[in-house]
Amino acid sequence: MRLPTYGDVARAAERVHGAAHRTPVLTSRTADAASGAQLFFKCENFQRMGAFKFRGAYNAIAALDEAQRRAGVLAFSSGNHAQAIALSARLQGVHAVIVMPEDAPAAKLAATRGYGGEVITYNRFQEDREVISARIAHERGMVLIPPYDHPEVIAGQGTAALELFEDVGALDALYVCVGGGGLISGCALATAELSPGCAVYGVEPEAGNDAQQSLRSGAIVTISVPRTIADGAQTTHLGQYTFPIIREHVRDILTVSDAQLVEAMKFFAQRMKIVVEPTGCLGAAAVFAAGRELEGKRVGVVLSGGNVDLAGYAALIAN
Ligand SMILES: *Cc1c(COP(=O)(O)O)cnc(C)c1O
Repeated sequence: MRLPTYGDVARAAERVHGAAHRTPVLTSRTADAASGAQLFFKCENFQRMGAFKFRGAYNAIAALDEAQRRAGVLAFSSGNHAQAIALSARLQGVHAVIVMPEDAPAAKLAATRGYGGEVITYNRFQEDREVISARIAHERGMVLIPPYDHPEVIAGQGTAALELFEDVGALDALYVCVGGGGLISGCALATAELSPGCAVYGVEPEAGNDAQQSLRSGAIVTISVPRTIADGAQTTHLGQYTFPIIREHVRDILTVSDAQLVEAMKFFAQRMKIVVEPTGCLGAAAVFAAGRELEGKRVGVVLSGGNVDLAGYAALIAN
């Protein structure tokens, strides 16, 4: 097993160039005044298909050899990774099969098909998606691309931080949301190279602090599926690739409550006029909770995505 390095992130940046959006970095005088810090929000809610996952998916497919490209790729996900693989595969002329639960929201099934993915559904109460995926991968010779525990996925996600440092220069701290740890691992590799003095903090939902427990205990801790509105961080454990990178390069893992996520969502809607999904608010919610602790510092915050179900979003920010 070879862990990805900064060199892989730099190569990923070349591969995704022209395919991924170079997302904007937004600032807010209101947030700066409240924290006393200079905050830089890297807006992956404006990324293609609405989240940073496009970067890792596109890079992983671009790294395949010719035989693998012909066989196609497979992913199991009902979230942003599904759409990222479907779109990235179509853009590169590769067939993609996405295994999704048959009771996934109709909008998500439609969006994944709309991006060109072949959707295979299963009954999540009777069947195991990993078994189904392994069978399809075996029958069709397809390459399975996991959502976070994969060197090229990690390297691709790191291009978000690479762009941030290119655009704003060195930072004192960087806050990144943590699910399975693909995004923060890639971003930490970029940080170690491009802004070595910058402390990287991961942020998880309070209800699912497996990464925090893992970092503190020194071994991967597995929890049951957490109940939180941060659906992109409902992962139960870090990965074999992401954990060692986090151990080496991440200063600490913090947690925030769902109520703090809602406050952050409201702030982004009302003050900055942007839609950020609950998981995308993890890093920002931790910064807002820090009060004046970050005074005088230059701080990066990755807003990881903006895919919301409109009715659910409206209900959350309405009161
Ligand atoms: C997947 C996802 C995350 C978590 O990313 P990991 O690489 O699993 O840590 C965070 N935010 C959004 C919007 C996501 O889609």
